Amino acid sequence: YGGPVTNPSDTPATTPSAVLVTGGNRGIGLAIARAFAEAGDDVVITHRSGEPPEGLRGVQCDVTDSASVDEAFTRAEELLGRPVDVLVANAGITKDGLLMRMSDEDFDAVVDTNLAGAFRCARRASKSMIKARAGRIILVSSVVGLYGSPGQTNYAASKSALVGLARSITRELGGRGITANVVAPGFIETEMTEQLPEDRRKSYLAGIPSGRFATPQEVAGVVRFLAGPDAAYISGAVIPVDGGLGMGH
Ligand code: NDP
Repeated sequence: YGGPVTNPSDTPATTPSAVLVTGGNRGIGLAIARAFAEAGDDVVITHRSGEPPEGLRGVQCDVTDSASVDEAFTRAEELLGRPVDVLVANAGITKDGLLMRMSDEDFDAVVDTNLAGAFRCARRASKSMIKARAGRIILVSSVVGLYGSPGQTNYAASKSALVGLARSITRELGGRGITANVVAPGFIETEMTEQLPEDRRKSYLAGIPSGRFATPQEVAGVVRFLAGPDAAYISGAVIPVDGGLGMGH
């Protein structure tokens, strides 16, 4: 299908989006928030502790707590002056350990933050998106979600489940102008990967066809694309940003 033929000069200039990035105070979330802000969008980040980073507006939020998520959205809507139309569910944690020794607490904490946290944010965001008949939900997963990783049963399970979440949102709300997609980064230069032991780092690099880790900005660019007008017909997709590491999954 070739799609309707339009004259580029008929295309209206894009209006700024109202963007909420969870866990936008550092790492990949911060790079995503800055990329939107630099492009002229109205951005609010959530931070669990401390202060928002310089130049960005922030609201406190613990994604494991539904009341905190609700309050954060309400406060973000006040700061933005309108409802959130782009949600980037980025907040995430790891609590690695071998299956045999993994505690219930470590399994639950990771699923509660990475999966249920994204669900709580998407549920809250969907209310105004449904009314507006427009919205973009972008869930930050990981290559590990579908590739698997020893010592990360909790993390991989939480991240692969985001695919089911995005695809169900797509089937439920696709007709209301809402898209939901998953971005699956590979290894990114952040505090999370800085903690990797040197031998693991080397063996990971050996398995990445691109031969390097990515920058947080490379993830941010893909997230911005999914929030933009050129991605209006992409929904329920898993977009890898992994240098080819997870190819074929
Ligand atoms: P960081 O550890 O640098 O940052 C994690 C962010 O999540 C922080 O802002 C943190 O807040 C926030 N967060 C954690 N728990 C909660 C919570 N309960 N409520 C609210 N916010 C919370 O991680 P990265 O930037 O490396 O990762 C960002 C996302 O990308 C994660 O979902 C991660 O799984 C994913 N990812 C990362 C990869 C990598 O190589 N780094 C690769 C693939 C995916 P606080 O500062 O308060 O702790």
